[in-house]
Amino acid sequence: MNALNLKDKIAVITGGAGVICSTMAKSLAAEGVKIVILDLNQDAASEVASAIEKEFKTKSIGLSANVLDKSSLQAALKVIHDKLGPVDILVNGAGGNSPAATSKVEKMDGTEKPEDTFFGLQTEGFDKVFDLNFKGTLLPSMVFATDMVARKSGVIINISSMNSYRPLTKIPAYSAAKAAVNNFTQWLAVHFAKVGVRVNAIAPGFLLTNQNRFLLVDEKTGEMTPRSRKIINGTPMERFCTPEEMCGTLIYLASDLSSAVTGIIIPVDGGFSAYSGV
Ligand code: NAD
Repeated sequence: MNALNLKDKIAVITGGAGVICSTMAKSLAAEGVKIVILDLNQDAASEVASAIEKEFKTKSIGLSANVLDKSSLQAALKVIHDKLGPVDILVNGAGGNSPAATSKVEKMDGTEKPEDTFFGLQTEGFDKVFDLNFKGTLLPSMVFATDMVARKSGVIINISSMNSYRPLTKIPAYSAAKAAVNNFTQWLAVHFAKVGVRVNAIAPGFLLTNQNRFLLVDEKTGEMTPRSRKIINGTPMERFCTPEEMCGTLIYLASDLSSAVTGIIIPVDGGFSAYSGV
């Protein structure tokens, strides 16, 4: 028996052209999974898909769709059915933060300008971040899980974050939205438990990527910011994680290795979530 049982399965990876999810897609392709890179950016999606096809000799397509627009996801599903077949695995990877929902100040002492604090956060920023991370997980699950429920077999893996357990300073919208992703992961796992669909999440620790570079690296000097140094000090392994390090957990959750596992959120964080700081 193949313990993984992944060969020739069909996986949709939203945000698949991004740093973490393109790496995750490659790790699935290496196990013989057929890959759909679904991303807002058609060119980037096609580029990642053709690189995967070339490297892993497994069928791979890049599709443009918006995880916030159900009709565009349904249109993508139709193309997937025509070109590949029904969806077995969904990785909800599209997500991120926005500067408009990020406070300049970590902790108020009462002397700063109000616009640099909680009071300067923009409602539109909250809407954007909540939509992308929460609704952007909800809608693809609604669209792509129809195939899974129909065949009583499938796996959904949501991409959460460290801040889902305890909020990080400065980014209240992103923290709350990822907490909602964890909660929804558990809800959907229960809802689908008897129809053969497992729902779990990965909570990556700290990686240096495009979405957080403005917080972690000083634009002018290229040096680590004080925030970066705090992260490293709060991570027992004393380093950032890499996208490649997310892949073992992804394969575990996507495959039959975890056939009795549903409704969990696995931190892949160099020990960050276990450490009290003392
Ligand atoms: P990234 O910015 O590199 O990639 C995100 C991708 O999503 C981009 O290709 C973008 O085009 C696509 N996208 C954005 N909006 C979309 C939409 N509406 N519809 C479809 N696609 C859309 O991001 P990343 O750093 O690789 O992060 C991937 C996931 O991991 C996100 O959910 C993020 O919140 C989470 N995460 C990242 C880190 C980190 O340190 N980078 C840490 C923890 C969790």
